[in-house]
Order: sequence, then C-alpha cells, then structure tokens
Amino acid sequence: MGKLFLFMLLPSPIHQVSFRGKSLFVKRDDLIDPFVSGNKWRKLKYILQDAAQKHKNHLITFGGTYSNHLLATAAAAAKNHLRTTAFVRGEEVNNPVLSLCKLFGMQLHFVDRKSYKNKKALFEQHYSGNNDTYFIDEGGASKEATRGCAEIIDELKENFDYIFCAAGTGTTAAGLLEGINKQQLPTELHVIPVLKGGDFMKAEIANYVNDLSKLRLHFDYHFGGYAKTTPELITFIKDFTGSTGILLDPIYTGKMCYAIFDLIAKGIIKKEAKILMLHTGGLFGILGKIDEFG
Ligand SMILES: *Cc1c(COP(=O)(O)O)cnc(C)c1O
Repeated sequence: MGKLFLFMLLPSPIHQVSFRGKSLFVKRDDLIDPFVSGNKWRKLKYILQDAAQKHKNHLITFGGTYSNHLLATAAAAAKNHLRTTAFVRGEEVNNPVLSLCKLFGMQLHFVDRKSYKNKKALFEQHYSGNNDTYFIDEGGASKEATRGCAEIIDELKENFDYIFCAAGTGTTAAGLLEGINKQQLPTELHVIPVLKGGDFMKAEIANYVNDLSKLRLHFDYHFGGYAKTTPELITFIKDFTGSTGILLDPIYTGKMCYAIFDLIAKGIIKKEAKILMLHTGGLFGILGKIDEFG
C-alpha cells in the first residue's frame, strides 16, 4: 500500500486565483497525478487498500469510452503491479483515453449497452470461481469511495463559506458532506449535477450521509445533459483557462465553474463569499471535445 502514496501529490495544494473581479480558492486535486487524477484517486484509495488486504491482484471495472475512472484505475494499477481489465460500454472504438488505458496495461472488453447494464452479471459470467479478481463498480462508487473523498475536507487548514463540486454519481459530494459534518464546519456544500434529471442525486447522497442540512444542489447547469456542451460553456472555459492558467474539462469542472460565476452574477451567491472550488481533474475529457475548442 505504501507505493500507492509514493507517487501522489498529497495533500493537494490550494491555489488562489482571480477571475471577473472575484477571488477564488481552487483545491487542485487535478495535480495529484496526471492520470490518476482528482476525485478518481480519492475514490480508489480505500478500494485498492481493500483489494490489497484481500490479496486480489486483478481489478475488474467498468466505464464509458472516455472514462476518467478507467484511466485512473489503469494507471494506479500499473504503479502497484496489479492487472486490470475493463468492460467498456458500446461498440469497439479507439481514442486517446482508451489508448492510454492500454498503454498502462489495461485489457479492454467492449460490451453492448444492454449487457453493460448488469455489471455484477458480467463479472460473474467471466470470473466466477476466480480468486484473483476484484470487482470495482463504474466510477468507483462505494462506501470506501466516500471515505477517501471525506479526506479532502481533512486537508483544509482554513474555513470556507462555500465548497463547490461537480457531481456525476454524487459519491464525491457525499464524501465531502460527510467530512463537513464530521468536523462540524459551518461550510455549505454546493453541488452541480452535470447531467439532466439529477433529482436522484439527493437520494444518492442520503444513502451515505444522514444530515443533509449543509447540502445545496443546483440543477440548472447540465448544458443539455451528460457530456453535452454549448458554445457558451466552451467560451467560458476558454476565458477562465486563458486568464487563470487552470484548465477545466467540459464534462465536469467547466460546468461547475460556470455555475459559480453565474450564481454570483444572479446574486444567489454573495460575491464576497469565501469560495473553495474542488478541481476534480478529468482533464482528458477535453480531448473528447477538442474540435469544439477550435
Ligand atoms: C467522475 C468525475 C466527477 C464526478 O464524481 P462523482 O463522484 O461520480 O459524482 C467529477 N469530476 C470529474 C473530473 C470526474 O472525473
């Protein structure tokens, strides 16, 4: 397990930047590692520890064709001499993220969307009776994952009025809320679901955390749905990156950061508020949308 930490930049630094006249603190989880980046490392940490304790040396996991989770798992496994196999949703394709996964030694099996839905069944079908294999759910969603994400809060040395994060499954948000509650911080957690119909998110977070009083969800920043973009979003990302030097991806962090400045412009969030934005990494998401950036 020691090796897992050796190559990771932890605790991740906090950088203060200024954009549109507003000062903003950014927790740079994107800098933890170029490939095992952001919340995907936070989520994997205790999962990999559990696998190691159980003497499992072959990780089996699941993801889409541009999955940050697959790349993070492939890279973390390679550092720790573990085998990895991924079931990838949809027809066989190649792209820079999948090429990197393969470079890190991950084996890819493409499965149709219907079969992909039942992950436990896929696992059983291919690996029943195999003692080496360890099941990791899509995106690493699990109780272990929330435990790793709660440690982001433990790393903070000062208080913030608001912490902002992007949400796909809501696991990262659940962990952050757990950390805030445990330390009884006055901080509100503002969560930006990046997909349409994020109403399930509150229930998902409630699976892990009892007290939701510090949770605020903003449902209007999905830009048409998961991995959908608009020219306005792309322009915002270019502006922010060009004037702060911090890259944002168009799937997660770009939408969250857009939301922060939109909520300020609309007077919903006070401009003077001390805000921490969690940069969850995932920058290879830019490659999937590179044509839109011109
Ligand atoms: C996966 C991912 C998220 C979403 O995390 P959840 O725990 O699924 O809500 C947010 N940001 C980035 C960059 C990601 O890769």
